Amino acid sequence: TEAHDPRFARSHNQALLELDRRHLIHPVTSFRGHERHGARILESGEGMWLTDIDGRRVIDAFAGLWCVNVGYGQESIVEVAAEQMRRLPYATGYFHFGSEPAIRLAHELTQLAPEGLGHVFFTLGGSDAVDSAVRYIVHYFNAIGKPEKKQFIALDWGYHGSSSTGAGLTALANFHRGFDLPRPWQHHIASPYPYRHPEGHDDAAVIASSVAALKAKVEEIGADKVAAFCCEPIQGSGGVIVPPKGWLKALRTACDELGILMLVDEVITGFGRTGPMFACEAEGVTPDFMTLAKGLTSGYAPMGAVMMANHVYDAIADAAPEALPIGHGFTYSGHPVSAAIALEVLRLYQEGGLLSNGERVGIRFAQHLERLRAHPLVGDTRGRGLLGAIELVSNKGTKAGFSADLDVGGRLSALTWEKGVIVRCFGNAVIGFAPALCCNDSEMDMIFERVEGALDALLEMPDIRSAL
Ligand code: PMP
Repeated sequence: TEAHDPRFARSHNQALLELDRRHLIHPVTSFRGHERHGARILESGEGMWLTDIDGRRVIDAFAGLWCVNVGYGQESIVEVAAEQMRRLPYATGYFHFGSEPAIRLAHELTQLAPEGLGHVFFTLGGSDAVDSAVRYIVHYFNAIGKPEKKQFIALDWGYHGSSSTGAGLTALANFHRGFDLPRPWQHHIASPYPYRHPEGHDDAAVIASSVAALKAKVEEIGADKVAAFCCEPIQGSGGVIVPPKGWLKALRTACDELGILMLVDEVITGFGRTGPMFACEAEGVTPDFMTLAKGLTSGYAPMGAVMMANHVYDAIADAAPEALPIGHGFTYSGHPVSAAIALEVLRLYQEGGLLSNGERVGIRFAQHLERLRAHPLVGDTRGRGLLGAIELVSNKGTKAGFSADLDVGGRLSALTWEKGVIVRCFGNAVIGFAPALCCNDSEMDMIFERVEGALDALLEMPDIRSAL
């Protein structure tokens, strides 16, 4: 039959690639660049492994987009989703309606999150979780009679999504350029970036300078005007920047002293990615708002969440007239199929043993990263749990990077794909890793063997060699 004829398969794949070029706008991609590059079309997944439409099998060291924490092909999730779809595919949360999965999930999240985050609002992903948190923070300060507190402070290299508010809190040039961002109420302070910190790797200095930068920024804007400080516990899309232990706690203390709220964006770091269920937990920090997505459903369906502190909830609740519904919500808030999936995903993390496997294999991950530090192209390695990165430099002494025209990122992305491993290349400097929590020892070894192979191949290239 046609389906088994390789000539038919090839022309079918060519047709798909052509349709993709013609019609599909890809996220965070140069339009013309994509037309030239073409799509890598994925077809199926199992555990750590992905297969593309040409039958190429590659190991995914980035869990999709740091979201498929349970790995691909978890049959129990498929069953739960099918059963929920059959019984009730949709239930609105508007007009006091609800569904059992959303209610049970809200309860479970409050049990897992730091004490005091007793309320949950569901979204479709991380961007609208951040956007929702910003709207609620604005609403909160109006509710408590401090309407002038509307300025937000975030970090250089931070990522808080692609909504028209979140993209301004994000501090990546391509999210601002041409989009008229950031807005005047969105401010940024230096990132706690140990490798690039002027005082070197000194943890105490990195923490102290962050606290000082926040205080200085609040003073510059006026404490009576600042609403909140937003940060990721580890900066993901900015290049996996890992602040020293104790940094988040010090910033929490500073926010309290300054009388501003703290929004901790755990979209990447949540659900075992850095070891514990949430990165806040390891620091003993309770934020006023915590945003979640990705690992919440492990990418099996779209869903995000905003967790709100009890004191904020009560202030909003007490100020709002009952006759006027608070105007914030989405058609798919608390979607029952996504919620049922999330409940099963949480079960896999806990009873299914994935959180503890992640912690176990995380030690091997850290050893591999550490070993790569000796590679001639590697200036820095960093990580926590199963989130990590290596930073490439042309000179280890001066920490100089490679010039943009060498396209180190593009070449590495092609080389790693050739070697059969998916990692994330950030610009020309950083390779990020976020393997699924189901990763076993030999798969972890294979990831690093393949990445090292790609680095060696890069090193063989004459123009790279002469740039060293
Ligand atoms: N916040 C952080 C910290 C993220 O990493 C991301 C996604 N990479 C987002 C928000 C936005 O999430 P989404 O892409 O699901 O909208």
